[in-house]
Formats: sequence, structure tokens, C-alpha cells
Amino acid sequence: MKLILRGHHLLCLKGFQGYGYDENFVENMIDVNNKRKLPETKVSLTNCPDDICKSCPNLKNNICEDIVQNDRIVKMDNAVLEKLDTETEFKSVELFEKIDSIFNTKESVSEICFNCIWHEKCLFYQNLSNNR
Ligand code: SF4
Repeated sequence: MKLILRGHHLLCLKGFQGYGYDENFVENMIDVNNKRKLPETKVSLTNCPDDICKSCPNLKNNICEDIVQNDRIVKMDNAVLEKLDTETEFKSVELFEKIDSIFNTKESVSEICFNCIWHEKCLFYQNLSNNR
């Protein structure tokens, strides 16, 4: 099985607690979150709409909300992707272990998570320490 995931969604999946934009979005997020934990799952990375965006009510004309918001989202993706080899097809379990080791303090995700509307509910963000 293969997932296509945009950079910042690697962090969102780690923090997912069942919240989302609507029922359809949450159902798909649960499905993707279950699949990414399976040993046979592979992941390709992108900064474009992915397997999570495809069920999101904010995806319009293949961009996130509007040009301004989409630019913001792509910057968040790129801040994650610059730490990873984007040409590689990753084993999902290993990729998420890598994410844990790279993004391990609040400072390490400040560019990515600080303005996110979910950061107060996000388990991943909340569990990060303030230490460098
Ligand atoms: S369309 Fe935008 S808000 Fe929806 S999942 Fe994708 S990046 Fe997130």
C-alpha cells in the first residue's frame, strides 16, 4: 500500500486526535492514520494536495482555500520536506520515526505549527518540550 502525503501532514498525523473540518475529512484522516502505521505501507512526499486533502472541504480548484492560504501551507510543507530526501519512497514506519527524531522540540516546529488553528488540540505539538 502506498500513501502520498504532503510534508506538514506528517506532523498532523502524529498529533491527530479525531478533530477535523467535517465528518468525511475525519473518516479519511482516521483511515490514512491507520494505514501509515502498517509495516507494509510506503510513503511518497509532496507539497501539493495529497491523500488527506482529497477529502477536505477546504480544497478548491486543487489548492488549499485560496492563493494566500495555499502559499502558507506550501511553506509549512517545505519546512518539513527540506529535512528529508523527497526523492525517496519511504517505509512509512521508518519515516515517522525519522519525524520524531528531527522534530523533537517546540522550536523545531515553530515555523510549521505556530499559526496552525489545531495546535492547541494537537497531541504531537503539546507533547513537545520547549527545550532546544
Ligand atoms: S486542503 Fe488545506 S486544510 Fe485541507 S487538508 Fe489539505 S492542507 Fe489541510
